[in-house]
Amino acid sequence: MTGTRSASEKLFSMATVRTYRGWKAYLLAVLAVLACFTLRAALELIGHFYYLPMVPAVVVTAMLARRGPTLLAIALCIAGNVALVAREGLVDTVVNAGLFLVVGCVIAEICWAQRRMHRRSIELTRTLAGRNAVLDTVLATVPVVILDREGRVRRLTPAAAGLFGVDGPRAAGRPFADLVHGFDLARQGEQASNGPLEAPTGHWIGRRPDGRPLVLSLQMGVMPEASEEDYAAVCVTDLTEAETATERARDLDLQLHQVWRLNSLGEMAATLAHELNQPLSAATTYLQASQRDIERAGLIGQSAARTLELAKGQILRAGAIIRRMREMLTSGKRTVVDERISSMIDDLRPAFALIGRERGVEIRTVIANNDDFVRAERIQFQQALINLVRNAADAVTARANPVVVIRGEALGEEGYRVTVEDNGPGISGDIESIFRPMTTTKSSGMGLGLSVTRTIVENHGGTLTVGRSDLGGAAFTVDMPRGGEAP
Ligand code: ADP
Repeated sequence: MTGTRSASEKLFSMATVRTYRGWKAYLLAVLAVLACFTLRAALELIGHFYYLPMVPAVVVTAMLARRGPTLLAIALCIAGNVALVAREGLVDTVVNAGLFLVVGCVIAEICWAQRRMHRRSIELTRTLAGRNAVLDTVLATVPVVILDREGRVRRLTPAAAGLFGVDGPRAAGRPFADLVHGFDLARQGEQASNGPLEAPTGHWIGRRPDGRPLVLSLQMGVMPEASEEDYAAVCVTDLTEAETATERARDLDLQLHQVWRLNSLGEMAATLAHELNQPLSAATTYLQASQRDIERAGLIGQSAARTLELAKGQILRAGAIIRRMREMLTSGKRTVVDERISSMIDDLRPAFALIGRERGVEIRTVIANNDDFVRAERIQFQQALINLVRNAADAVTARANPVVVIRGEALGEEGYRVTVEDNGPGISGDIESIFRPMTTTKSSGMGLGLSVTRTIVENHGGTLTVGRSDLGGAAFTVDMPRGGEAP
C-alpha cells in the first residue's frame, strides 16, 4: 500500500503544474510581460500588433501564479502599451486598455478554472488508484469467484483457484456446483441475494481434484449493476482447518474423559486394596489363632476349625479380588515414546480455553519449545496437566483478577519442568495430605485428582511437588526426565 501511494503521489506531483508564490511569482509576471514585448517587437517586422502578443504573458502568469501576479502582468501589459504605442486618441487608448483588462481577466479566470479541474482530476485519479490497489490486494489474498446468471464460473481470484486446486482460466465456464457440492444459484438467489449463503448441511463442502474435501462458508454479493456476464461475487472462506482443529479437540476431550475414568477407578481400587489390606491380614491372623485354639477342643472343635478355614479362604479371596481389580485397571498397554512437551500442550489449548471460559479465569501459557523432548504416554501426561490446571482454576475463581500460568522450561540433562501456578489462596497445613486419595475441600470433589496426577508423573519417572507461587497462590511443579531426540 505504501508503495502504491508513493507511486500515485509521484504521478500527482508530475502532473500538477507548479505554482509560484511570493517575489518569484511577481518576477515571473514581469519576465513574461518582457518576453511578450520582445515578441511584439519582433512581430513589428510583419505588421502592427497591440495587445494580442500580450496574451501569452497573461496565460503563463495565470497558469503558474495566483491572482496578484496575474493582475500585475495585465497592468504591465496595459502600461507598456500605453507608454510605447502611439494611439490615435485618448478614447482609443482607454477603450483598448479597458478591453484588454476585461479580456485578460476572463483569460485568467479560464486558466484558473482549468487548473482547478486539472487538480481535481489528479486527485480523483489518485483516489481511484488507491482504491484499485486495495481491491487488487484483497482479490490477491481473498478467495472470490465471479459467477454468471447461470451459476457458471466467470473468473476466480488466484486465492480461490489455489483453494479449489484448479487452473483459473480453465475453470472459467464450469458450473460452480462442480467446485462446491450442492450449490444452486437459482435457489440461493431466492434465499439471499446478498450475504451468507446457507448450506443444506450446515457447511458447504468443496471438491478438489486431489479428492481432499474442503469445509467452506460462502458469502454472496450480487453486482449492483449486473451485466449479462458478471452476475454475482461469491467470497469463499475455508473452514477446513478450524473444523479439523475442533474435531481434534473433541476427540482429545473424549479420550481424556475415558482416561480419567480408568485412572480414577484404578486409584480408587489401589486405595481400597491399600486400606483393606491391613484389616484383611489382621482378620486372617485372628482366624488362624482361633483355629489353633478350637482344634484343641476335640471333634467339635475340628469341625469349627474347618469352617474357620473356609472363612479364612474367603477373606484371602476378597483380598485377591481387590488386587486383581487394581491390576486390571492399571495394567493397560502403555505406549511411552519421545514426545514434545510443547506439542502436547498445544493440543490442550482448546481444553484450557474451555476451563478458563467456564470459570472466568485467564489461563496463560509460557512454554519454551527448545529441548522439550520427554519420554511420555501422550494422553496420560495431558491428563496430569489438565488435572493441575483445573485445580488451579478452581482455586482462583474467588479472586478479583483470577489467573493461572503454565510455564515450561528445559532443564538440559535433567529433563523438562512444567509449573502450573495460580494467584489463589495456596496450600495451607499439611502439604502432603492433598496428594492422598479421597482428600478434598470441594463440595463435589472426589479427592482423586492429585493422587492420580502424582501416580501418572511417577509412572513416567518424574516428580510432582507443590510450593508457593510468586503470583501468591500454589505452584505445582512437574519434573519430567529427558527423552531422546525424536526424528
Ligand atoms: P479434588 O479436586 O476432587 O478436590 P484433588 O486431589 O485434585 O481433588 O485436590 C485435592 C485438594 O487439594 C483440593 O480439594 C484442594 O483443596 C487442594 N488443591 C489442589 N490444587 C490446589 C490449588 N492450585 N490451590 C489450592 N488448593 C488446591
